[in-house]
Amino acid sequence: MSDFPLPDWSRIDVVCLDMDGTVLDLHFDNLFWLEVLPRRWGAARGLDFDAAMTQLKPRFDAKRGTLDWYCVDHWSEELGLDIPALKHELRDEIRYLEGAADFLDLLRGLGKRVLLTTNAHPLSLRVKDSQTQLSRHFDELVSSHDFGVPKERPEFWLELARRHDVPLARTLFVDDSAAVLQAAHRAQVAWIYQVLQPDSTRPPHPPVAGIAGVRRLADLRDSVLAQLSAGAGPESPPP
Ligand SMILES: [Mg+2]
Repeated sequence: MSDFPLPDWSRIDVVCLDMDGTVLDLHFDNLFWLEVLPRRWGAARGLDFDAAMTQLKPRFDAKRGTLDWYCVDHWSEELGLDIPALKHELRDEIRYLEGAADFLDLLRGLGKRVLLTTNAHPLSLRVKDSQTQLSRHFDELVSSHDFGVPKERPEFWLELARRHDVPLARTLFVDDSAAVLQAAHRAQVAWIYQVLQPDSTRPPHPPVAGIAGVRRLADLRDSVLAQLSAGAGPESPPP
């Protein structure tokens, strides 16, 4: 943990969590986009990995931070590949980050409303849910594709508050993307934490200035357990 304050769970009603790199290991997405897809795309064009990546990188960079970046339909069409089928092929690599599922169960034990807030396309969400059954840990699944704007944009947060009755001043949000965290900060979400090691196979990255960092979601479990042992939670022992 960094030096930032731990959440005061008595002042939090809603918990919004990102999916890839927060609840689920970003290893799958890095493997998919940075290794398997370039190889597959290159092989169809007689290009080796480096040549394929040289051509793909500017096309990826041009869409970063937009809804198209997260859209399987966009990339299936743009690259001439069946992206959902390719993800399905690689599905055994999809997994929770260590301790994430336990943390989600603890939140439910505390009686918090827990929402998945993801930029992932609904088709990607379906592949990941069928592999991990993550939806059973959440009260609601929110894909920014339903709003037509990604989490990087201020409109996302207005729509989240309006359509899903989320009180941002009593909400805790966790994500691994600097641009998304900064947007949440500007939208005045009360408690914001950044996951510093979204891919379990890669080293942690430095925190975004001004935002509390945790190595992974499970690090926040300590603050829940401290609240339970203080007798504030529903699972505390009888007096
Ligand atoms: Mg993420």
